[in-house]
Amino acid sequence: ELTDVSTLLLSRIRDVADYPEPGVMFKDITPLLADPVAFEALTGALAEIAVRTGATKIVGLEARGFILGAPVAVRAGLGFIPVRKAGKLPGATLSQTYDLEYGSAEIEVHAEDLDAGDRILVVDDVLATGGTAEASLQLVRRAGAEVSGVAVLMELGFLGGRSRLEPALGNAPLEALLQI
Ligand code: AMP
Repeated sequence: ELTDVSTLLLSRIRDVADYPEPGVMFKDITPLLADPVAFEALTGALAEIAVRTGATKIVGLEARGFILGAPVAVRAGLGFIPVRKAGKLPGATLSQTYDLEYGSAEIEVHAEDLDAGDRILVVDDVLATGGTAEASLQLVRRAGAEVSGVAVLMELGFLGGRSRLEPALGNAPLEALLQI
């Protein structure tokens, strides 16, 4: 059964070579989103991870983590918290900067959305270097909340994101529905 879902999901991801820059193989999930059977299977599998890991809230990472994380939250009966690129949230925020290959990036969350008793599942489409997910886990921990896990559609294993995430994950799992 799991294999059937994986095969379906994989068949709906489009590889786009040299996008957005030379040398990158972009994983385009728009064909998957456009297929209601595949989209339902994906959000169902991620919601199952949320329930199994005891999550109390879903954090979605801008922008594709919003598209996946919001229906996952609804299906699991949990609230949804957006982690946004800096400068987009109107309220009091916690922010975290992290290193990119060239330069740095900054993400933010509304401080009032994370409570000390929460267990957070971070959802995104692709885990690449792990920098974005790591920074989001640091935000969660700085707010005093616990991490239930990180759940992604796809892990690009050759980029080493899993080992980068290990310290911030602690004992929480990184769950990828597909390994590339
Ligand atoms: P990273 O911080 O390196 O793990 O990059 C993660 C973010 O960039 C995720 O939110 C992904 O949506 C996006 N991303 C990175 N690499 C790819 C790729 N090859 N295809 C699609 N999205 C990617």
